[in-house]
Amino acid sequence: MSALEINLAKAEAHLARFRDDGVRHRIGGADVGGTEWFETTSPHDGALLARIARGGVAEIDAAAGSAHAAFPAWRDMAGAERKRVLHRIADGIERRAEEIAFLECLDTGQALRFMSKAALRGAENFRFFADRAERARDGLNLPSPTLMNVTTRVPIGPVGVITPWNTPFMLSTWKIAPALAAGCTVVHKPAEFSPITARILCEIAEEAGVPPGVLNLVNGFGEEAGKALTEHPLIRAIAFVGESRTGSMIMRQGAETLKRVHFELGGKNPCIVFADADMERALDAAAFMIWSLNGERCTSSSRLLVEASIHDEFTARLADRANRIRVGHPLDPETEVGPLIHPVHVEKVASYFETARAEGAIIAAGGERLPGPGCYVRPTLFTGARPEMAIAQEEIFGPVLTAIPFESEADAVEIANGVPYGLTAYVWTENLSRALRVTSKIEAGMIWVNAENVRHLPTPFGGVKASGIGRDGGDWSFEFYMEQKHVGFATGRHPIQRLGA
Ligand code: NAD
Repeated sequence: MSALEINLAKAEAHLARFRDDGVRHRIGGADVGGTEWFETTSPHDGALLARIARGGVAEIDAAAGSAHAAFPAWRDMAGAERKRVLHRIADGIERRAEEIAFLECLDTGQALRFMSKAALRGAENFRFFADRAERARDGLNLPSPTLMNVTTRVPIGPVGVITPWNTPFMLSTWKIAPALAAGCTVVHKPAEFSPITARILCEIAEEAGVPPGVLNLVNGFGEEAGKALTEHPLIRAIAFVGESRTGSMIMRQGAETLKRVHFELGGKNPCIVFADADMERALDAAAFMIWSLNGERCTSSSRLLVEASIHDEFTARLADRANRIRVGHPLDPETEVGPLIHPVHVEKVASYFETARAEGAIIAAGGERLPGPGCYVRPTLFTGARPEMAIAQEEIFGPVLTAIPFESEADAVEIANGVPYGLTAYVWTENLSRALRVTSKIEAGMIWVNAENVRHLPTPFGGVKASGIGRDGGDWSFEFYMEQKHVGFATGRHPIQRLGA
């Protein structure tokens, strides 16, 4: 048997119970749903993977009620105990990492070489926030002449977590781990295109000792279950990862109930390569940051800004890389780019092949779909693009890179900043002064110099402009899931104005 055949057999064994029974909601520690369903299908060939319970207003109401009822006991549990529970969740994820990775590959089309690491990163997220749970409430002592002023943090209450389809398990842990560590209870609404593994996280959490109602799962469509979650009066805050225009909708939907929001949204991130850069490393990083994870990653460098003197050589070598990338079944260990998530998304990505032609760009590699029923496209490089073109402005969210030449440092910064987004940027130069100047001028939440995106959990993660509001990571996550509380204790008998005395 080939490695692919072995992996397919294993994946099928993991999928069997979902194929047979479907994926139900998990509300208050019980399975709910089973009257209305939708389907999740394989990006590889369109085959049915599983039926998923379709939740709406009623299920969200039940889940929010459960999260509300479970909140006081979870909030009041000692931080040290929550820490133990969260570490047990991490243990459970590690034990089931293969199952999670294989099911994610089937459901999302992402290649196993990346998804196996993504599942383990989910465990790391839980460990990181577990270790901070005991200190989450710490505050300051700010004495004044008449008062001892102390601050503390308290969990905000039940929160809604709404996640996208690209790396669903890992992204959900990124939100759910700090929320639980802070003492919040959660209602999770995963993306309708890749919902299977969210259910596994609930199972692991319950086995680890998370009480019923602390983590609830409602599946369904954004405009039904997602909308109801953002409008529910018992839900205090919404942590959302997804498209910028969905973020706008959620802000409107949550206005009536004054929701606190945390948005991680889209990007059109520049990778800027100056002529003095280490060319080999820049080439590796540019290829990795657009063609790994099918280019379906918010931090992908989908715009390549190359200094004009090296543009032709650099893009020719990159086109050669694109043509050599192994496109194939997501469970084949050799695969570097798998099928895109869904036929609807392929239509969107492929429409940019036409746009590029119409705008007069050169298709230096790819620019076509692969024949067959699956959602496969070739890794693509557009060259000769101008900054104002749609292919250089809009988030394509596929394995599609747009290269734009620049003449000077000032041009590079202007082009980099000339989009609505501001999530990440990547700068390649051996000139330290230039790196300092350029990074200070680029409008982005995160910038890497001479590196690809290397996530370090204590650092802030998030974007500016249309790429988001708020930061994850380190203590920033707790700032979102918790409220600051101030208490002033009089230290003596200071004079109080006596009205009407
Ligand atoms: P999407 O916005 O279409 O959907 C995300 C989630 O929102 C889904 O669960 C969906 O059901 C839900 N949703 C849709 N409409 C809703 C509504 N009206 N009310 C409430 N919920 C609603 O995004 P997607 O297509 O699933 O994911 C791709 C996008 O996610 C890209 O733009 C990508 O850049 C972004 N993303 C950002 C980050 C980041 O950290 N900045 C990370 C990953 C993905």
